[in-house]
Amino acid sequence: MILDKENIVKLLQSQDEDFYLLLKKAREEKIKTVGNMVYFRGLVEFSNNCAKDCYYCGIRKNNEKVIRYDVPEDEILDACRFAHDRGFGSMVLQSGELSSPAFIKRVDELLKKINKLSNGDLGITLSCGEQSREIYRRWYESGAHRYLLRIEATNRELYYKIHPKTENHSFEKRLEALQFLRETGYQLGTGVMIGLPFQSLEDLADDLLFFKKLDIDMCGMGPYVEHENTPLYNQRHLLQSPKERFKLALKMIAVLRLIMPDINIASATALEAIDPDGRRKALDAGANVVMPNLTPPDYRKEYRLYKNKPGLLEATDASLKKLKNNIESAGYQIGWNERGDSKHFTRRTQ
Ligand code: SAH
Ligand code: SF4
Repeated sequence: MILDKENIVKLLQSQDEDFYLLLKKAREEKIKTVGNMVYFRGLVEFSNNCAKDCYYCGIRKNNEKVIRYDVPEDEILDACRFAHDRGFGSMVLQSGELSSPAFIKRVDELLKKINKLSNGDLGITLSCGEQSREIYRRWYESGAHRYLLRIEATNRELYYKIHPKTENHSFEKRLEALQFLRETGYQLGTGVMIGLPFQSLEDLADDLLFFKKLDIDMCGMGPYVEHENTPLYNQRHLLQSPKERFKLALKMIAVLRLIMPDINIASATALEAIDPDGRRKALDAGANVVMPNLTPPDYRKEYRLYKNKPGLLEATDASLKKLKNNIESAGYQIGWNERGDSKHFTRRTQ
């Protein structure tokens, strides 16, 4: 079957037996192309300060109910050490979007220190929003080598239904930022939210074709989950049930695995806000990366992007063991002490 827009829409519509068949095919493709390894990335949500006002996001600038924090550097480094000691291959450092010189410098120094403490073993993904070409270069030179910047929605009209139409929420600038990241040499990751109000299956098919065209190396996408203190909450009557959004997210992962077999696909945390076993289900649908949350417990409740965001403390040996058992009993192997770089990136740059 040629995976053009029409056929992708059909796959996204699949129900019952066709749904299971799609997931099965994607899983087989994954095992064949990238194997049955699952890679851990330790996630640290190191700051919820944000200069933006995305309509969907709980930590948007205008949400005054959020207590703002910056995790002190030594606590971030402790989380990295914890991950490194336990054989995690990589970290993901995520935050709100700021571009003050102090913030840029802070990230820069952090990158150098993480590299030092792990002797360069730990892979580092950044997810700190849109920045200039120069800043992306500076961080790259200081040791970040992957970057996650979701396009959120590739339909420009939809983009402006979920973002204010202002200079610092420009759709064109987002596209340009993705281009800067690509040119700098990062392993490039993007993604979208699935089940947004006003979003059609055609939009989602276009999103997948956009990923293919951009030739991304990694993808992180998950269901949209509403948050009560955001403008988009007013449109919640337009939403599909959480279960439907969850199912659609699994279908998106599966189709993406079929159209881009050798990329890394993360099993998004938002899946677990809907189904406690969501991450494992995403692995069965074609994902191969899991991001245990290592944000120190005192801060994590203030990094609430959406409701029911799992507050799981995964920075303990007991909960890691549970996660490990869950993944291994589903038939996967954990890639301990491996960075787990995107095979697509390796092939693309060889
Ligand atoms: N500030 C950075 C990174 C933090 S936000 C950025 O925006 O790129 C990380 C991701 O969380 C966003 O890309 C968005 O897709 C997701 N997110 C935010 N609010 C969400 C919601 N209500 N439901 C699901 N995902 C959400
Ligand atoms: Fe800020 Fe990112 Fe949330 Fe937008 S999605 S408000 S940039 S943290």
